[in-house]
Amino acid sequence: MENTLTREENFIIIDNDKCPCGSGKPYKECCKKHNYEYNTLGKNYEGKEIIFNQSLNMKIYDDIVNYAMDNIFSLNGQPVLMVSKALDMLKEIYIKVDKGINQFSQYAPCKKGCGSCCSLYLECTDIEAELIRRYINETRTPEEIDALNKKVKIMLETIATTGSPHVLQEKELDKLYLNYASKRKSCIFLNEDKSCSIYEVRPLSCRKFLVFTSAENCSLKEEIVTPSLAPGNIGRLAVDNLSMVVGKYKNLNYLDGQDMKPIMKSLIQWFKNGFDDISKNK
Ligand code: SF4
Ligand code: SF4
Ligand SMILES: [Zn+2]
Repeated sequence: MENTLTREENFIIIDNDKCPCGSGKPYKECCKKHNYEYNTLGKNYEGKEIIFNQSLNMKIYDDIVNYAMDNIFSLNGQPVLMVSKALDMLKEIYIKVDKGINQFSQYAPCKKGCGSCCSLYLECTDIEAELIRRYINETRTPEEIDALNKKVKIMLETIATTGSPHVLQEKELDKLYLNYASKRKSCIFLNEDKSCSIYEVRPLSCRKFLVFTSAENCSLKEEIVTPSLAPGNIGRLAVDNLSMVVGKYKNLNYLDGQDMKPIMKSLIQWFKNGFDDISKNK
């Protein structure tokens, strides 16, 4: 069994070591000057040390937190956030998360055309689905939209999923995920060449999904280790809160005990009645 994410406890870079940023200069003459600290997540599938700029990672994390504090959390209690404004904010969060995840992508086997992960169960919130809905309407012909609608119908017929995964217990959720994966149905947005046809607006779940195990493991759906990365996690919190604020006027959130939460649904369920209006597909 691969043990890919064991952190080296005493990872240090010595002054004369080559700087991990790839400049070719010694660390002391390069990133040390900017007080950049590096850390590791352990080894990847090729035995390569997953070294990342911890200072940069924290900076991006803080940037997302600050953005969310200033623009989203502060909106709580206010009646309505315009959808167009919320979409701009969502894009801004995506840019920040991508920047954070990019640091790690070089250690993952993930690349264009390697799409086994695109048949896994994947969820998103209303605002993310709305971004995709608009993108589809702007970029596709009516015939192409018809074809997509057909794909959605077929997916929904062949895959027994519940309309409300958020009310399921953990064990039931696991069953749902496994059942979904076992059908090996590709995402409706996956192109023939296994590239993503909505890449620029793909939801956060796809953006933060990368592995450090080998690509083969993904096609076997075995031992997929998805690392928990700070920018992705804080991004989720920001997007969830954004969805909650914007979803209020269409009741696209629910009460869990005392807490309001955004409704998360599988990507296709947001489009079960077409690409017209997300709230119709509730
Ligand atoms: S997660 Fe797995 S299947 Fe998906 S792109 Fe990465 S290696 Fe390929
Ligand atoms: S939206 Fe794109 S990246 Fe995400 S599962 Fe579908 S095809 Fe894959
Ligand atoms: Zn450097």
